[in-house]
Amino acid sequence: ISSKLPQVGTTIFTEMSALAQQHGAVNLSQGFPDFEPDPALIEAVAKAMRDGHNQYAPMPGWMPLRERIADKMKLRYGVAYNPDTEITITAGATQALCTAIAATVREGDEVIVFTPAYDAYAPLIELFGGTPVYVKLNYPDYHIDWDQLQHMISHKTRMIVLNNPHNPTGAVLKAEDLDRLEKIVNNSNILLLADEVYEHITFDGISHQSLTSRPALAERTLAVYSFGKTFHVTGWKLGYVLAPENLMTEFRKVHQFNVFSVHRPQQVALAEYLDSDSKWDVGSMYQAKRDEFLELMKGSRFEALPTHGSYFVLMDYSAISDEHDVDFARRLTIEHGVASIPVSVFYNVPTHNKVLRFCFAKNSETLQAGSKILKAL
Ligand code: PMP
Ligand code: GLN
Repeated sequence: ISSKLPQVGTTIFTEMSALAQQHGAVNLSQGFPDFEPDPALIEAVAKAMRDGHNQYAPMPGWMPLRERIADKMKLRYGVAYNPDTEITITAGATQALCTAIAATVREGDEVIVFTPAYDAYAPLIELFGGTPVYVKLNYPDYHIDWDQLQHMISHKTRMIVLNNPHNPTGAVLKAEDLDRLEKIVNNSNILLLADEVYEHITFDGISHQSLTSRPALAERTLAVYSFGKTFHVTGWKLGYVLAPENLMTEFRKVHQFNVFSVHRPQQVALAEYLDSDSKWDVGSMYQAKRDEFLELMKGSRFEALPTHGSYFVLMDYSAISDEHDVDFARRLTIEHGVASIPVSVFYNVPTHNKVLRFCFAKNSETLQAGSKILKAL
């Protein structure tokens, strides 16, 4: 058949995790924790199932869970999202991204994507007839050049995708970045797709600058989140989306037909589990993991680039090898036994930076085993 996405293969995450498994390598590639969630959360799911929460959840999600999300938004950002009309529970952030793009992007629309970019954005934009327009983040701190963004905006620009904290680089937006963004989108019809799945994972006292916290941005923003990332349950595929009512109405028109509703027992369990705001606080735990990994890597020939959020750190390996990052990452997995993600796959054009992404959302034993091998290179 003639493919709708001829240029798309299997994702790098599937490829590298499979290669890691095949060669028994320490897997610091695909972003998922190798430790278990709070046992109380598991027990709450079992209880929800025993209590008979085994049939469809309401289409927009289990109301008490939507209420807990609204509470958090009020408390942390001082913003009011109506759980009835402005919050929808999704099958992970991935389904939220897909549905948001399906509901808003039309044939011929341009959507701005910053590179390196999480791999889902461009194929989804293309699937629904849009054209990704790429703006490169500036190495090595991967900040946005707002003047360049301004130049790339045209009358066809329908949406800008902003991933903050940023995968794969760990860069975070500052208040001044949101100021610039406000000026750029002011008086336009441009929508914003905020991928804030690492909202709760920021380091060194940095507070997350959510697009939802600025009324002038929130009025045009669909914001996407992931319970998987926050509560170490990526396998649950549970997330949510926030948007003003007019955008959420369009979102739900698609949501009700591509999934209708999502896993009820986990929603019931999370609503009960989130009995205090502090349950969302996972940043310090991940900061300790980042610091542990960086400490372990001291004395290696990899050079860590700064990471301010997410559970990833980029490492420059130019002191070790001249190989292309895809070749180097494969060889590192097969011959040395550590899997990582080559960063060039997150670009639309060839890039020659010698950088790999490592995930530090791992047990101490895993970080020790991985860094021991990496330090010997
Ligand atoms: N966006 C980003 C930036 C991610 O890193 C991920 C997952 N790692 C997702 C979206 C997808 O999240 P989920 O697993 O909840 O679908
Ligand atoms: N988002 C995760 C990562 O960046 C992986 C998710 C996936 O495998 N699609 O590694």
